[in-house]
Amino acid sequence: MVTKKKTTNRKKKQTKYIFVVGGVMSGVGKGIASSSIAKILKGRGLIVTAIKIDPYVNVDAGTMNPTEHGECFVLKDGLETDQDMGNYERFLNIDIPGINYMTTGSIYQSVIAKERNLGYEGRNVQVVPDIPLEAIRRIKNAAAVAEADVVLIEVGGTVGEYESILFIEAIRMMKSETPRDVGVVMVSYLPVPGSVGEMKTKPTQHAARTLNSSGVFADIILARAPVPVDLKRKEKIAKFCNVRVENVISAPDVESIYDIPLNLEKDHLSDRLCEMLSLPCSKKSDLSEWRKFVSKSKNTKDTVKIAVIGKYFSSGDFVLSDVYISVLEAIKYSSYKLGLKPEITYLSSLDFTDGKNLKDLKKYDGVLVPGGFGKSGIEGKLKVIEYVRKNKIPYFGICYGMQLAVLEFAKNVLKKKNASTEEIDATATELVIGIMPDQKEKIAQKKMGGTMRLGQYPAVLKKGSIAGKAYKTDEVLERHRHRYEVNPEYIMELENAGVIFSGKSPDGRLMEIMELPIETHPFFVGVQFHPELQARPLNPHPIFTAFIKAAYESK
Ligand code: GLN
Repeated sequence: MVTKKKTTNRKKKQTKYIFVVGGVMSGVGKGIASSSIAKILKGRGLIVTAIKIDPYVNVDAGTMNPTEHGECFVLKDGLETDQDMGNYERFLNIDIPGINYMTTGSIYQSVIAKERNLGYEGRNVQVVPDIPLEAIRRIKNAAAVAEADVVLIEVGGTVGEYESILFIEAIRMMKSETPRDVGVVMVSYLPVPGSVGEMKTKPTQHAARTLNSSGVFADIILARAPVPVDLKRKEKIAKFCNVRVENVISAPDVESIYDIPLNLEKDHLSDRLCEMLSLPCSKKSDLSEWRKFVSKSKNTKDTVKIAVIGKYFSSGDFVLSDVYISVLEAIKYSSYKLGLKPEITYLSSLDFTDGKNLKDLKKYDGVLVPGGFGKSGIEGKLKVIEYVRKNKIPYFGICYGMQLAVLEFAKNVLKKKNASTEEIDATATELVIGIMPDQKEKIAQKKMGGTMRLGQYPAVLKKGSIAGKAYKTDEVLERHRHRYEVNPEYIMELENAGVIFSGKSPDGRLMEIMELPIETHPFFVGVQFHPELQARPLNPHPIFTAFIKAAYESK
């Protein structure tokens, strides 16, 4: 039988690509700008996804010291990535897969593996074009998986750096192949030097020229500056950087990063992009939920004071809060949801080592110990945990913060003088926190990169517990990043002394949540996972909300 070939009227989707590159200097919010562009395009009814290209040789962000690189953001599928991936997820309110993140190292790794596999069929494999081609292959793959109308691709670093040149070449190749499908946004910076008092465009002109010398021209210049960019400066930039004046978008410093999508729309950025790339945009932008969130964040009734005890805050004379960015944002979302203004104070655990400053903790409504690694700062954290447990100050421990809460309990309540975590002292006689068996092997073989227990795993919750009540469900999926666990040998003893393990892996082996009875402490909860990675502006995380609520109520 001959069957007629089915014809379909549906046009194949033509995905469009918007590259975001940095000019002048780093640290002016390229990640937030990319997230905001993605957000306003989503507001125009498009399916949007975002990609980050990091130019360093590390295969992922998991092997870098946080004081150098900021937070390591773990995706649902376990890839350890740059904190900008967190910004994309938070702004777009979607989970993003690992294929949307790449580094120079990961690209070389695939190209070399393919070469070893005779994948290039005997030809000469070259830095150009094979490295950019692999980047392009990944970009298109990510677009297909997301079924995206438009893909935002942020290239780390600033134009002119050796590191990013191969990715600029990828842009050039894509743009010369399909010019109508590729747009380039350069996020620049216009300083207003105090001595002059005038906004200067020259650094932007130089950055544009540097970009042009690689064969790439910006379509849009996003002009970051301390204040709004006036028409005169816009005209100057347009003239010297080869862009239309309406494509110079003013992006002044704002009170909150969440204002930025709304601000970019004041200069009609989504209209510009939709027109430039012939995107199938809805006529009107719908950012109503976002607007509600922003207005809620500015109309808070009361404050809640939270201390975050970390060890990665200081960098020379400067304080870095980027390392805990997801934690800080998660605190904000839950506070806003409760109509509260969070006052977050960063305290270094090193300042508590001698126990002198502990009384200062009374100033706070809640204390949070985030994730961490290694020995430094541990003594101080244990002292803080003991203090807040005894003084009934609401406590929330994340990952290391949970492990140390269990350790503190073993030391001071179970009176185990020699208790420790295997991470610090493998010879201690009472390893209340031990290494997970499969992790032991990996460490012995020096397989360190990307080998922790990473990504999403389920936890079964105990009915009626603080966690059970917060989540309002029996099972949750949370993201992880750890090598150590509560040692199963001590679980019974801990439970008999009052610790409630209110979340466990489905096989009951791994302790995912610990808490102290609500009758004895207003809120003392530790989680082995990283709930902050799933907290979103439009979807605050229930366990953070429970913590903030308890903190506020115990004022
Ligand atoms: N260092 C601990 C572990 O590896 C905790 C990790 C973390 O806090 N992310 O288990």
